[in-house]
Amino acid sequence: MNAAVEYQVGSVDPRTHLFDVTMTVAQPLAPQTVSLPVWIPGSYMVREFARHLQHLSARQAKRTVAVRQVNKNTWVIDAKPGQPLELRYQVYAFDPSVRAAYLDAERGFFNGTSLCLQADGHRDRPHALTVQRPKACPSWHVATGLNAQRVNAQGWGRYVAADYDELIDAPFEWGAFWSGNFVAGGVPHRVVVSGAPASFDGQRLLNDTQRICTAAIRMWHGRGTPPHRRYVFLLHAVEDAYGGLEHRNSTALICSRRDLPRLGAKGASDGYLTLLGLISHEYFHTWNVKRLRPAEFARYDLNAENHTELLWFFEGFTSYFDDLLLVRAGLLTPQAYLDRLAKTIASVEQTPGRKVQSVAQSSFDAWTKYYRQDENTPNATVSYYTKGSLVALCLDLALRAEGSDLAAVMRGLWKRCAAGPMRESDVLAELQAQTGRPWADEIAAWVHSTADLPLARLLRTQGVVIDTERAPLAQRLGLRANDGPSGVMVKSVLRGGAAEKAGLAAGDEWLAVEVGSGQRAKIWRLRKLDDLTLLLGPAKRCRALVNRDQRLHWLALSLPELASSWTLSIPDEFNDWLSASS
Ligand SMILES: [Zn+2]
Repeated sequence: MNAAVEYQVGSVDPRTHLFDVTMTVAQPLAPQTVSLPVWIPGSYMVREFARHLQHLSARQAKRTVAVRQVNKNTWVIDAKPGQPLELRYQVYAFDPSVRAAYLDAERGFFNGTSLCLQADGHRDRPHALTVQRPKACPSWHVATGLNAQRVNAQGWGRYVAADYDELIDAPFEWGAFWSGNFVAGGVPHRVVVSGAPASFDGQRLLNDTQRICTAAIRMWHGRGTPPHRRYVFLLHAVEDAYGGLEHRNSTALICSRRDLPRLGAKGASDGYLTLLGLISHEYFHTWNVKRLRPAEFARYDLNAENHTELLWFFEGFTSYFDDLLLVRAGLLTPQAYLDRLAKTIASVEQTPGRKVQSVAQSSFDAWTKYYRQDENTPNATVSYYTKGSLVALCLDLALRAEGSDLAAVMRGLWKRCAAGPMRESDVLAELQAQTGRPWADEIAAWVHSTADLPLARLLRTQGVVIDTERAPLAQRLGLRANDGPSGVMVKSVLRGGAAEKAGLAAGDEWLAVEVGSGQRAKIWRLRKLDDLTLLLGPAKRCRALVNRDQRLHWLALSLPELASSWTLSIPDEFNDWLSASS
């Protein structure tokens, strides 16, 4: 394939964390404008990847060509038509997340959004990328979802993409990683794990991931074939991190080493189940957001925020199905699923911002609110992940009462929107098609208002028993805090709670508590928030001593009545909603 734009990516010395990139535009415009994306699709925040690009130079037929930077991420190259234009530059890569690029003597990782300048006028034409092994790293291999055109046994060589968007939708992993394969739905899948310790049970991860992929393909296509012809999981294990980013036929994941399955271990740790949930989540995005996607994402604007009101659907519904597919795959018991669901319900319940923002507004503001969290976030916003997943739950339960279910709606949307751009009106149309009645009232109330969802009523329709238990102390007080080395560090003060009424503020260091009054008053050093119940006994009032900007303050705190949260269970052995499918 002749590519309109070619990239060569290598590194003279990975220890410098610098990738060396050569980019060739076969038939440049005159002048030729090039730019680097300011964000990476799937992670809704302007990250300014161009801040790591340096030493950009241009040549044509061995002559230096003038380069002029016109804004933070765009350069105009004084090219002449009819001759290939060659650009050279370096990119500093030391971001361990899945969203950017990383390079050291142990491994390399990059997204095209960090390394590949986009040539104006060539975005929809074929692109190629050649990866060159760093000299000092003879044992390194390459893994990516991109199609290999001419590569050696270790994967070094030339990869091709139909256009720029496909090129930047396939991260690369370089290193001496663990790798395994399986087939699901007739499609070859590869799992690559870097950073794993000696106890890592790779076969277990392969088996469980295969079950998840099979369950997802079955949900979307029954016995039919999925839209991707192969798929690659790039999992990087580190001391402590968690996250993933979806791509059209691959995903980049990061997890804690402790959460990997261990050789000889029985059962699944909570951490491992969370990792399987992440795998399930990112794989589900292969359908829901990478293909079926907001109409606003039909063609990404890579130079600015791309707003959509639909993240409650694409992230929330994906969050609903990720754990549900673990149940279907036999990896999570119905009770463990309900325990996780109760936690999600509690987290939305404990967010005063749910009375400020609808999930549609939360989706639109993802760029400045969800992705830019601060001490006021719980008071100002609601998560389109958690509340969005509860909207999905409500729809699934309500649809089941009418003889359909949410999976059928997802399949219907897949057909209705031809696995492409989608609007909220399509969701409404498909809900009506499934049930023969309009759903505008439910969508208005659940998606566009701040009213609480009818969770209790709908859960009971599936035989779920709801009990209450005493809520944690922090919830009762209306604050979020960490136990720090010198005292309790207040992270957030929740709107309308006891902590707010007492005058506590985010950033306060809660040092001590005075219990009783007059002669009987005792002042206790407070090191852990949970010690408060120990020190207070039956007292309903106390005084809190806090340190704020070098000054000590005594604050009168009244303890509110007991707050409660839900526990969920299903007494029936058989339940269609939470049954494992064979
Ligand atoms: Zn997601």
